[in-house]
Amino acid sequence: MSTAATSIPERNAAEVADLVLSSDKATPEAVARRAQQRRQMYIGQVASYSLGASVLLLYAYDGAIPMIVPSLFWLGGLMIIGTFAVLSEAGVVERYKDHYLTVFQISAHMTLQLIFVLAVPTIGIAFISVLFLVFAFGTLRMTSQQAMLTWTLVTAGLGFIFLISDLPIGIPVTSRLERLASMLCFVLVIGQCAFLGLFGSTLRKILYRRSIELKAAYQRIEELAELDELTGSLNRRSIMRALDEEIAGAREAKAPCSAALIDLDWFKRINDAHGHPTGDEVLRTFAITIFANIRPGDRFGRYGGEEFLLLMPDTSGEAAMRMLDRLRMIVAELDWSAFAPGMRVTISAGVAALRDNDNADTFLARADSALYSAKAHGRNRIATG
Ligand code: GH3
Ligand code: MG
Ligand code: MG
Repeated sequence: MSTAATSIPERNAAEVADLVLSSDKATPEAVARRAQQRRQMYIGQVASYSLGASVLLLYAYDGAIPMIVPSLFWLGGLMIIGTFAVLSEAGVVERYKDHYLTVFQISAHMTLQLIFVLAVPTIGIAFISVLFLVFAFGTLRMTSQQAMLTWTLVTAGLGFIFLISDLPIGIPVTSRLERLASMLCFVLVIGQCAFLGLFGSTLRKILYRRSIELKAAYQRIEELAELDELTGSLNRRSIMRALDEEIAGAREAKAPCSAALIDLDWFKRINDAHGHPTGDEVLRTFAITIFANIRPGDRFGRYGGEEFLLLMPDTSGEAAMRMLDRLRMIVAELDWSAFAPGMRVTISAGVAALRDNDNADTFLARADSALYSAKAHGRNRIATG
């Protein structure tokens, strides 16, 4: 994964994760980012109260409510927002798991609306409609317990207003201006609720994408932990585990199984003559060549240095010998001159077929002694043990 390709979505996702989940070990960057997110939220809230106060101004202009109401409403909202903004800037909110203090914010804004319903019941419905917006904001971060708590509080408040008091809760619709203001109350609240809903669904989408990215990254890490870095073949731990699995599988299926230890001939000379990096390239090319010429069920891994283990399930000793001889020929006939003019690379291999009383050690030991014999007989050859 290249950094350039992943840095932007990863940063976004990290920001969103901060927004949605509060982290226990906040880095200074995360703290600064969250403070910035809260600032944006407070600005949005000021805009929302300003819109509400503008609608109230229409009622006041029409004489439905006293002129002081819009200003008080706006100031009340600003006082709440200002209090939370001061707590935010002072870093106090970072001490809490929910650094937005959602329950407190909701309770404060909800109380303000209820106070205005009580104070100006003739436009009470307008303030009640704002409660929808307050709760839409809350759903972005509240837990179900917090939602139950705030809902109980608002139920108590509305219960008092509607059931205990006799206040004439209403919304003025007598003049054209009042009708316009009343319509705007609902239209603006609906619009802001929709905006919050969209924001929430965007967060969910980003988190979903992030979870998929994480899953892919995790899978890749698991793959890398099983592979040899240089050749991309299984590493020693994995090929040894595969050996145990293949032995058990062959026993269970009562099927043949063969293994081959493959070693590059005179590899030290290749290193000495052309340098270690060229030696690495030769190993890589050798591994790619083997991968290109074995069956999907075969398992190929680096046993150590320039020695590799090939496991061939469902393969008799004779078939394995033929297979290895074919691989030997392919490697020997490959054009290695791209690495160095006149370069030749050959392999030797020791093949063993699984026997009934074999365990992994005896199985491998026979392949190893066969390899030794192939080397002793002049290299670039396959022997069986
Ligand atoms: P033989 O035909 O008997 O196998 O001779 P050889 O030279 O291949 O065997 P030897 O065991 O003497 O040398 C193996 C060499 O492989 C020595 C070591 O430096 C080299 N080697 C092991 N791992 C790596 C590697 O990852 N990269 C490179 N470039 N060389 C490696
Ligand atoms: Mg060697
Ligand atoms: Mg060796």
